[in-house]
Amino acid sequence: MKNAIAILGLALLVALPVSAATSLTGKVIALDAGHGNGETGAVGVCNGVEVIEADVNLAVRAELKALIEAGEGTVHEVAQRFSRQDRVADAESAGSDVLISIHHNGSTNTSADYTQSFVTQKNDKIFAGYIHPALVDALQLPNKGIKNDGYGMTVYGSLPGVLTESYFITNTDAVCDFLDYQSGATNTRVQKEAQAMYDGLAAYFSANTDGGGGSKGRNR
Ligand SMILES: [Zn+2]
Repeated sequence: MKNAIAILGLALLVALPVSAATSLTGKVIALDAGHGNGETGAVGVCNGVEVIEADVNLAVRAELKALIEAGEGTVHEVAQRFSRQDRVADAESAGSDVLISIHHNGSTNTSADYTQSFVTQKNDKIFAGYIHPALVDALQLPNKGIKNDGYGMTVYGSLPGVLTESYFITNTDAVCDFLDYQSGATNTRVQKEAQAMYDGLAAYFSANTDGGGGSKGRNR
């Protein structure tokens, strides 16, 4: 009897997968951290300490990358090139299924704050329909919607893409929150934003099982 239980236990161990597959399994997600390469993007201040948008974009990308990899997806970190057309070309040449270009907004009004996303092509709109609402739910800021506008990242190429401006990094609360994140705080905007993007990606790939990518089947 003891042996039978041991054998059954072993059989169960063998049968269980090492990690659970998700809708992201086998997908390639291109993550573009806006600016960088000498360009700061928007600049915010909390108690005299400056935070540049490029650093926030990189932090969100790092958090999202960890979540995607835990979900068995593959992340392609888009090279921080000067030209947005070159960034998209980099994402497409890696055989990416989708592209998220991570930005944060800026204003001279340090209390301005809302969530907005940008798309160009029809497949961008479908993709953004999963990412943008997840960001709005997670951040609980005024929803300025999904706007039709180029900004280059969604104009070029054919893969579904969205450019996100999840909140204003010139907003004083947002800047202080980012400094808290850098000091090791949890449940900050960066973490909420990355989790929302992950949830949006998971929902998108669940509903669009072929990924819908224009680069489908290339460079794999
Ligand atoms: Zn930006």
